[in-house]
Amino acid sequence: MNHIVCLLPGDGIGPEVTTAAREVIDASGVDVEWVVLPVGTTALEFCGSVLPARTLAAIEGHGLALKGPTTTPVGSGHPSINVELRKRLNLFAAVRPVRSLPGIKTRFDNVDLIIVRENTEGLYSGIENEVVEGVVQSLKIATTKGCSRIARFAFDYAASRNRKKITVFHKANIMKMSDGLFLRCARKVQSQYADRIEYDEMIIDNGCMQLVRDPSKFDVLLLENLYGDIVSDLAAGLVGGLGVVPGANFGKSCAVFEAVHGSAPDIARQGIANPLACIMSGVMLLNYVGETAAATKIRNAYDHVLQEANPETLTPDIGGTGTTQSFTEAIIRALM
Ligand code: ATP
Repeated sequence: MNHIVCLLPGDGIGPEVTTAAREVIDASGVDVEWVVLPVGTTALEFCGSVLPARTLAAIEGHGLALKGPTTTPVGSGHPSINVELRKRLNLFAAVRPVRSLPGIKTRFDNVDLIIVRENTEGLYSGIENEVVEGVVQSLKIATTKGCSRIARFAFDYAASRNRKKITVFHKANIMKMSDGLFLRCARKVQSQYADRIEYDEMIIDNGCMQLVRDPSKFDVLLLENLYGDIVSDLAAGLVGGLGVVPGANFGKSCAVFEAVHGSAPDIARQGIANPLACIMSGVMLLNYVGETAAATKIRNAYDHVLQEANPETLTPDIGGTGTTQSFTEAIIRALM
């Protein structure tokens, strides 16, 4: 079956890692027609917009995209393209599976988490203003609709994957109303799953401490937007860094797959970016469209390459001396 997938190379290392993912997916034998679309600062140069209307329309039309990271200026400049894209396409749920990988030495070898992040509300609503000179405010938005739908998504997702426990990280002791609402909605949904899924709540500072001490205590984490962003990177650190953690953003009619990492301008265009997170995001995409055999084939291939642990193959972030290309080519060879 032929699948039409929008491919958004994005900024920084985006073009390098999305090219790698495309090559691996094509080599797996799946029939994908790629529609390459501009997004990010690169798009600004050629289309006059960081998120061109035709890019949005194409993702909406095809319902499926593999996206590279985009650069967000710090402290000023254009708003985050990711935040904008998630809002415009109503991609309300981000899923980031974080698991220990063979051959990558880290403090723990038994990490197997799924992070579910609310993607459209919280402090990322982007509503900020200067009240008077020297005083600014940022609004944290929480709605019953938004909190309930992410909770329902998390419990459905966990149940469909036979996961046993959901832990909500929150700060409802301080943000009694917004995080309080998040908790109330999660508890309400939880009551419908009480026979199947264990439920726990943890104040986020304690949760982070527990997570880095013993990640095996956790199964699925459910977080509002900002906490989910931060804890995703923290969890990535448990399994080898940002180069090895994939992600997906789901809405009602669209799914956009992208690695957790950003555009990594410090290593862009050097050919040393780890393509694995983007390739793994591609594997999530293949599973999503029902191409499970190809997804498993790719997963086995990169597990094999990691297991071999040939430093000449792997990228520097996971202890190798290789390049994006050497890593990608090794995965493609392992597919054959
Ligand atoms: P953003 O806020 O846009 O998500 P970030 O602050 O999380 O970005 P990244 O761009 O992800 O930052 O980079 C953080 C660090 O991780 C940098 O040192 C970068 O080089 C490294 N890094 C990120 N992705 C990769 C990758 N695929 N391969 C190797 N190193 C990476």
